[in-house]
Amino acid sequence: MSTSLLYHAFGIRGYQYTRTDYQGGQTIFTIRQAPETCRCSACGSPAVHSRGRLERRFRTVPIGRRPTFVALPVPRVECQACGAVRQVEIRFADPRRSYTKSFERYALELSRRMTIRDVARHLDVSWDTIKDLQKRDLSRRYAKPKLKHLRQIAIDEIAVAKGHRYLTVVLDLESGAVVFVGDGKGADALGPFWRRLRPSKAEIEAVAMDMSAAYRGAVSAHLPKATIVFDHFHVIQLYNDKLSQLRRDLYREATEVLHKEVLKGTRWLLLKNPENLDAQKDEKARLEEALALNQSLATAYYMKEDLGRFWEQPGKRFATAYLNDWIGRAEASGIKMLKQMAKTLAGHRSGLLAYYDAMITSGPMEGTNNKIKTMKRQAYGFRDHEFFKLRILAIHETRYALIG
Ligand SMILES: [Zn+2]
Repeated sequence: MSTSLLYHAFGIRGYQYTRTDYQGGQTIFTIRQAPETCRCSACGSPAVHSRGRLERRFRTVPIGRRPTFVALPVPRVECQACGAVRQVEIRFADPRRSYTKSFERYALELSRRMTIRDVARHLDVSWDTIKDLQKRDLSRRYAKPKLKHLRQIAIDEIAVAKGHRYLTVVLDLESGAVVFVGDGKGADALGPFWRRLRPSKAEIEAVAMDMSAAYRGAVSAHLPKATIVFDHFHVIQLYNDKLSQLRRDLYREATEVLHKEVLKGTRWLLLKNPENLDAQKDEKARLEEALALNQSLATAYYMKEDLGRFWEQPGKRFATAYLNDWIGRAEASGIKMLKQMAKTLAGHRSGLLAYYDAMITSGPMEGTNNKIKTMKRQAYGFRDHEFFKLRILAIHETRYALIG
């Protein structure tokens, strides 16, 4: 080892190499700072008197499989200008960190391809050390996304834990980036978003959301000029929930064993897009068998396909007629589930038709939700809620491998 290798291998410059020790499988380089280079860490004055040294040890990039440390007796100096006694500034490590900046860069680089657990194991540090390191990096990069350019957004809630803990996520529909993660659901969760949005002077034109009242009032109040769109994705999601409920009710009411059997495995088939039904698994035939046995299930199923075509109309005038027709048929069907759905859609007509003013959908939110769910399953990271939120803010760039 030499003073110049210290610089080229570990990014440590301005110190003198003293010696190398090998203890318990570790390599320790001791370095020193020449007294004449000491400055006051507060005012930068070179007019200082030495007041002893404090031995500190910093983890740095390993050499091979050996954990490697840099030991430095950090000079304490009394500043003639300030009159105070302080440690001099350490240039190769952040204050209060017990590892070097080059270690930090290396760990972040590994984090792009390895889970936190793997990085921690490889570098012989704790899971929390790597997590904290990622957290500071994510915080620098993503904690305050720029909002000025926002034009079209989607707002949605996601369940993040058993016990019904929720987060509210705002997505930039143009870039696909998550631009806000708030605690809880409903209007209150958006408070910090509005506080950051106002000074950005963003001109948001359209907002996609579900039909629940959760965010509607808050959006109308804060973005009076924005078009609110109750989007395709959420309407079909709601419909699918009701369709599943109908199937469950029919199953419970069915008295014949055969009838029950046929209904049993159809839940996922009912929710699938017809073009995605797997011919090799006989899915289409199984679905048709179940529908043939249950008139109301069949009606509800085909009415879903019809409803889907509401978003394929050539313009708002056609769409209005189409929606009215659908609502009329659903009301006349005599099926409770369809009547409820008709009532809900009728009550949200203008927000549904608004799709033809601003053609947006929360579809991209689904992809984000799926990524969040995957991350959630690696539930380890969960102990640090702020970290989890930062990871969501960075999710579109997949900056780091899964939490693990
Ligand atoms: Zn000073």
